Amino acid sequence: MASMRVDLPISEMPRQWYNIQADLPRPLDPPLNPGTGQPLGPEDLSPIFPMNLIEQEMCRDRWVDIPSEVLEAYALWRPSPLFRARRLEEALGTPAHIYYKNEMVSPAGSHKPNTAVAQAYYNKCEGVKRLSTETGAGQWGSALAMACAIFDLECVVYMVRVSYDQKPYRRVLMQSFGATCHPSPSELTATGRKILAEDPNCPGSLGIAISEAIEDAVSREDTKYSLGSVLNHVLMHQTIIGLETKKQMAMVGEYPDVIIGCHGGGSNFAGLSFPFLADKIAGSHDPEVIAVEPAASPTLTRGPYMYDFGDMAQMTPLLKMYTLGHGFVPAPVHAGGLRYHGAAPLTSMVKAEGLIDAVACQQRQVFESAVLFARTELWLPAPETAHALHVAIEKAKQAKEEGKETVILFNFSGHGFFDMSSYEKYFAGELVDYEMPDEDIQKALQDVPKLGS
Ligand SMILES: *Cc1c(COP(=O)(O)O)cnc(C)c1O
Repeated sequence: MASMRVDLPISEMPRQWYNIQADLPRPLDPPLNPGTGQPLGPEDLSPIFPMNLIEQEMCRDRWVDIPSEVLEAYALWRPSPLFRARRLEEALGTPAHIYYKNEMVSPAGSHKPNTAVAQAYYNKCEGVKRLSTETGAGQWGSALAMACAIFDLECVVYMVRVSYDQKPYRRVLMQSFGATCHPSPSELTATGRKILAEDPNCPGSLGIAISEAIEDAVSREDTKYSLGSVLNHVLMHQTIIGLETKKQMAMVGEYPDVIIGCHGGGSNFAGLSFPFLADKIAGSHDPEVIAVEPAASPTLTRGPYMYDFGDMAQMTPLLKMYTLGHGFVPAPVHAGGLRYHGAAPLTSMVKAEGLIDAVACQQRQVFESAVLFARTELWLPAPETAHALHVAIEKAKQAKEEGKETVILFNFSGHGFFDMSSYEKYFAGELVDYEMPDEDIQKALQDVPKLGS
């Protein structure tokens, strides 16, 4: 039996993003200035971001028009297909209907270009010539590099040194799109030079790379900084995913009982689920919505909900979120991505309000599910994506036990073509499970300022 593909005609592609800030049970707690502890004003953010994106970050309108230039860029790969996983259902012998939205069809291979093209466009409108950003494994860097190629902007990416050395292919992809990629720490910033003076062999970290990218943007007139997850406007740009999916589910006459996304900073999870949460908040439907994270980086399941910095160097505003502490570094045995210490303020809020659930998974079972998926549905998932599909499989097994035709929907956030070394380790039996000890969480949280709780 073939799996079923549901295509949305391009004339039906949504022309507005959905802004969940309009429908929250209470307003978000404001971001705070790290120096004063007072709520931030738009001007505090203007050295880093263009004003049109700062306005979007604070916007409370329910619907925001997608500019026609962004719609044109989206049309290169959107609307993305929805699939019913018939072959996976058959392998599991489940009466459940399993659907997945396939975001790997973008040129960079994930959902990240949905916000990258929007951010590049808005920066272009304000006369910005050059964007700086950081990247860990390189998925965000390659998405922004691709977007800058569309809108003819320069793109500079600070890539965590270990990844730069050990995972060269994402870097080569960024260079192919025309971006410049520096290993971080670098000699190009004061932060980088200071760290290299103390430790010339420093392997780098996401926190250091963020600090370098922000310093780059702040020190140049022609440059702004761009972030690939966590912020409100980023999550809003991703809602094109869920808005398309709602139309596609309607085409097959179904509505999901369970909606699942993996959760790093929260952008692909929010992108799929927020348009459905609108129905849940309005009371017209009551889907179970689940964010999935690794047990080695258990932000939503085990972190407290409090103000913390977005980066290790404490340069970003303080955000109210679930956090493992800005100094958190996941155990080296962890291969599955989703390493960020915090969660988006918006996904944190809907979790705190009881609108969504969160679960944490061990990596060996996640890779086992990834391989079952590749052998049935044939798309090779990114390790991050495999967290979502693993929980979808668990739910389908539960439906089998209960004899229910549960309708399960998950986000297939990206492909795993650049993650072969993680798959290789799995096949060689070298992956080990890891549960973060309570003491380590307590220790990581010690440095978090006690503010505005
Ligand atoms: C970056 C990435 C994620 C995690 O980021 P979110 O902001 O939580 O979506 C998940 N899947 C893929 C394929 C990614 O590239």
